[in-house]
Amino acid sequence: MERVQTVSKVINLIQQAILPALKGAKIVVDATAGNGNDTLFLAQHTPDDAKIYAFDVQTEALQQTRQLTADFSAKIEYVLRSHAELDAVVAENIDMAMFNLGYLPGQEHELTTVWESTQIAVTKVLRKLVVQGICVIVAYPGHAAGKEEAMQLEAYLQRLSKREYTVGCYRLLNHAATAPYAFVIEKTR
Ligand code: SAM
Repeated sequence: MERVQTVSKVINLIQQAILPALKGAKIVVDATAGNGNDTLFLAQHTPDDAKIYAFDVQTEALQQTRQLTADFSAKIEYVLRSHAELDAVVAENIDMAMFNLGYLPGQEHELTTVWESTQIAVTKVLRKLVVQGICVIVAYPGHAAGKEEAMQLEAYLQRLSKREYTVGCYRLLNHAATAPYAFVIEKTR
């Protein structure tokens, strides 16, 4: 059996961390569908009657996500819109949301997520999270726009009221400072 790297592969560790909560999640947002790997993971581990909104601004990304998740398409809504507009699409409160920031590997770097729209989307998601709902965000400071986005995001999350949210950060201490790192935010009231 292939062993999954969970400590150095930040996204794998995050996936394992949210597994128990996913089992009961009904409304889930994948804010950056990309190649569909995260959407597939979310679809595989949520109940049959869950609904997953998969956002991306690239037609090709959503096509790839649609193909990869074909077995679960009944519970997925594929949304070709910016996650900054998610409140126009997602009417319900949210149990779980995932942002895997940055650009699609092998695609134009210009199509990376940027803080301006990420901030709007994260703010909307946090408002819509149910109590005990979770939002996970993986940031990629390895390129210029990603570094700026990660810095702004970290500062923004540090300012969140601890009466309402608990924010954790998972970072590789003995790897390059440019390695991806993750935030886990839980709404507490
Ligand atoms: N979750 C993906 C996977 O499992 O393959 C990887 C996501 S990739 C690192 C980031 C994605 O965010 C890209 O596909 C990009 O098109 C998308 N993106 C960039 N800006 C966006 C926005 N404003 N709204 C939604 N998606 C956006």
